[in-house]
Amino acid sequence: MQSTMMRFPLTLDHILERAGKLFGKSEIVSRLPDRTLHRYAYNDFHRRARALAGALQRLGLKRGDRVATLMWNHYAHLEAYFAVPCAGGVLHTLNLRLHPDDIAYIANHAGDRFLIVDDILLPLYDKFRDRARFEQVIVVSLSREKVAERAGSLPSSGTPTAGRADYEALISDAAPFTPPALDENDAAGMCYTSGTTGKPKGVVYSHRSIVLHSLATATVDYMGVAHADAVCPVVPMFHVNAWGIPFTAVMMGSKLVFPGPHLDAESLLDLYQSEQVTLTAGVPTIWMSILQALEKAPARWRLAPGMRMVVGGAAASETMIRAFDKFGLRVTHGWGMTETSPVGTVNYLKRELGGRSAEEQYVTRAKQGMPLPFFEVRAMGGEAEVPWDGMTMGELQVRGPWVAAGYHDLDQEADKWTADGWFRTGDIVTIDAAGYVKITDRIKDLVKSGGEWISSIDLENALASHPRVAEAAVIAVPHPKWGERPLAVVVLKAGDAATEEELRDHLATKFAKFWLPDGIVFVNEIPRTSTGKMMKAVLRERYRDWRKRDEE
Ligand code: AMP
Repeated sequence: MQSTMMRFPLTLDHILERAGKLFGKSEIVSRLPDRTLHRYAYNDFHRRARALAGALQRLGLKRGDRVATLMWNHYAHLEAYFAVPCAGGVLHTLNLRLHPDDIAYIANHAGDRFLIVDDILLPLYDKFRDRARFEQVIVVSLSREKVAERAGSLPSSGTPTAGRADYEALISDAAPFTPPALDENDAAGMCYTSGTTGKPKGVVYSHRSIVLHSLATATVDYMGVAHADAVCPVVPMFHVNAWGIPFTAVMMGSKLVFPGPHLDAESLLDLYQSEQVTLTAGVPTIWMSILQALEKAPARWRLAPGMRMVVGGAAASETMIRAFDKFGLRVTHGWGMTETSPVGTVNYLKRELGGRSAEEQYVTRAKQGMPLPFFEVRAMGGEAEVPWDGMTMGELQVRGPWVAAGYHDLDQEADKWTADGWFRTGDIVTIDAAGYVKITDRIKDLVKSGGEWISSIDLENALASHPRVAEAAVIAVPHPKWGERPLAVVVLKAGDAATEEELRDHLATKFAKFWLPDGIVFVNEIPRTSTGKMMKAVLRERYRDWRKRDEE
């Protein structure tokens, strides 16, 4: 028997039109390169996004054509987020922190026809323009200079030559927008994984997957994006759609606050204060610097009481969660991947844990959380699921309507999916009886000592809880007897000193003896990827020949 319900497509044009009809007065604030604030309301955003969609159609955009963006977080990027998919195109956000060779590879692999680029990023574009195959480049003038004037000072273009257009001129000349009939399974966006090894792999999101991800993440227990919120995505719009926040916030009509290129702690805190931000999101490195700034000058900023900070992309330590609590700021820990749109699990306290001690609650809050509705998780040890006992480690496998079923134009990664249709995340986890997932490692980062697994993340978090440690990376180094042993690479807080022995004693109170690192080396900095993840492969290479001194 068929239902009697409408087949109503889950497409992004619905979110854009809803925003125009219902939330015309909601505000969108963007920090510009010269630090001034650009402000307008949703009715401007709605009009301009439609005008951009019309302009792209006039330039010849066809269904499924890729439109790349090389942009910071700001109003024009938001316009592209909606204009491109609503015109039937595919929004391809390029990661401006990658090496120009990689950006060129990604743009060509994706088959990008158009590029929308911030004027301040033209010098970056110039580094790969002769290798990229864009037909048309649209320049957004954020610097309050005429694009034509800037263009005149640019080196002559390489081959093939891309036409160049001014974003504002295009929008103001645009013919009326003719919305295409979109199918919910049409491609709407794409993003390449920023893996630390191998070539980047492209994930293509559909209208449907983005809409469902937005509905699920907006729910109160997960990201809880409300109309009354002032939402500031610090996570770049070129990292997995800034975790979907631009879509979710526009769906709810929330005030949006974009930091532009100014991501240092003081600029962010100033912005949080002036716009009274209530919800923000980013990777732990951002929060570490914010915390240091707050600790240095606790009375300097008056933030919205109870501001929520979604932390993901790498593990948020218990120490960080506690430290922010002291400032009345609430850390919400979440986990996700490019392949999962990205949000898969988010942490909130279940009713049954409400009566537990503060200590126990912190242990739970530092876990990566519980799966969203329709997002299924299992932890596999070989062929069988490991028990949900909070102790046994297994590989996290996931499935759901916003999980990738393959990569764009790439066959050789088929083993990332199991025969029964789950995506192998490559993360090692425990799942406890209440359903909280805890990431203990990446498969490739696990330390396997004498056949036993040691979680590098647990050791890192414990080291980070030491008052004089700023951050720590634990890696496996080869060992003749045990196969591998853990080595800790530690950055101390500026001006602080600590000995190896002191840190080992600190760890000894928490872990079995065989977990304790064979050595602790002190460094000034831990190398990180463009998305804030520690580059452990670099450290493993650097310390490959490291041996316990008494064995030499
Ligand atoms: P990406 O696709 O670049 O977003 O990277 C996804 C990977 O980041 C995951 O597979 C995890 O290894 C890691 N990751 C994301 N969120 C967390 C988190 N909250 N804690 C620990 N690792 C995380």
